[in-house]
Amino acid sequence: MSVQGHLKSKRGVFWLRPAQKHTIYPYMILGSGCAGLSLAWNLLELGIKDLILIVDQRSTFENDRTWCFWDIEPTPFSDLATHRWAHWMIHDGSRQTIAACPSFPYLRIRSADFYQRVLDRLTSAPNITWALGQPIMEVCETNQGVRVSTAQGHFEGLRAFNSMTQKPEVPPGGSRRRPVALLQHFLGQTIRVKRPTFDPLTPTLMDFRTPQADGPHFIYLLPLSETEALVENTYLFSFPLHAERHRQEISNYLKLRYGLEAGAYEVIEEESGAIPMTTARSVGKIRSRVTSIGLAGGAARPSSGYAFLRIQKQTQTIARGIANPGNSHRSREKCHLSSFKYQFFDTVFLQCLADRPALAARIFAQMFKRANPAALVRFLGDQSTIFDDLRIVSALPKTPFLAAALRSCPDWFPALFGR
Ligand SMILES: Cc1cc2nc3c(=O)[nH]c(=O)nc-3n(C[C@H](O)[C@H](O)[C@H](O)COP(=O)(O)OP(=O)(O)OC[C@H]3O[C@@H](n4cnc5c(N)ncnc54)[C@H](O)[C@@H]3O)c2cc1C
Repeated sequence: MSVQGHLKSKRGVFWLRPAQKHTIYPYMILGSGCAGLSLAWNLLELGIKDLILIVDQRSTFENDRTWCFWDIEPTPFSDLATHRWAHWMIHDGSRQTIAACPSFPYLRIRSADFYQRVLDRLTSAPNITWALGQPIMEVCETNQGVRVSTAQGHFEGLRAFNSMTQKPEVPPGGSRRRPVALLQHFLGQTIRVKRPTFDPLTPTLMDFRTPQADGPHFIYLLPLSETEALVENTYLFSFPLHAERHRQEISNYLKLRYGLEAGAYEVIEEESGAIPMTTARSVGKIRSRVTSIGLAGGAARPSSGYAFLRIQKQTQTIARGIANPGNSHRSREKCHLSSFKYQFFDTVFLQCLADRPALAARIFAQMFKRANPAALVRFLGDQSTIFDDLRIVSALPKTPFLAAALRSCPDWFPALFGR
């Protein structure tokens, strides 16, 4: 719940410093979701004292999503994890595979806890000002900087960081081929049952015992306790489905797998999303004073849709570039060189999924079954060594991937030269 000037949360009231008219803000952050708030957090961490304006259409910070990621590197928020699972399961439709990796557990963070921590910090900083409840209609560069227009007026700044989600665009011109662009869309329900039902030690990353007629379709299930779970119905690449169909498919799954009739469980929370999976750059117009961040800035790993860790890295790199302008060029270079490998793998992976959707269950299951779990987790978290990469490649079916590598050559080859 919120009103102009302050935000109420379960743990208290945050007073917001309102945006000032006729002020030129050195930094404007457009969108106060994961990326916008993480960037503001990192700027404060690095001692930036310049005025920062945060603009968002939202005026509340509810528990609107769950973030999971493998604990392969520290983040300022990892200690907020409510769960740390050392095992996970994949079911390809006929067999289940359980992988164990105690060195890199799978963490779960509630977005409400993240928002609370960040808002605690940001609302006590004298240089953070807010314009919430203001849908942004236009962002344009001016001679002096950037102008952001909302229904309630304009804000002026020198630089802007934009996390307003937009459709990924394929760069114009160049090859006539378009890199594969899939959509991962999902709806999850946190449910509570009366009798012990779930194995709290083993989340299900993918259960393909679901109808596959509309493309790869699986259930993701996080067991929060023996009686509570987040059950997510996920599709890769057909057009978005109506929420009712997602709910019906969750209900079918719970009945089939756990014998739970509709009245046997209570839905406590619901979340949904659609994450673009593509190696096409989400650039739109390239503007020197507006930097895209978060999903809008291509932070989601194209082959998996995982974005939380990448957003942490992206916003730390940007904040460091601002705090130490001399080092920003070097960190961009490093970023490019280490990312070609993942661009290549992700392009081929997506091409293979697009060409052979019926193989999706087998591909994922084989990867989790045959690859060393620590190597796979490092690979998924952009930290794999060459030996890890070889282990992953050797775990995958060769013929379809080779065909996909050849077919997608025009997409990944230019990336080798940073294009
Ligand atoms: C339900 C869900 C679960 C997810 N789970 C995971 C996970 O487990 N692991 C993982 O790694 N990733 C996950 N993701 C992906 C990713 O981490 C999240 O989407 C993350 O929130 C992306 O951060 P962001 O800042 O780019 O976008 P958001 O957090 O969505 O923030 C964008 C902000 O922009 C604002 N905005 C948009 N348009 C306008 C406008 N016109 N004017 C003003 N404000 C605007 C929005 O109100 C919002 O606050 C999940 C995504 C969703 C949706």
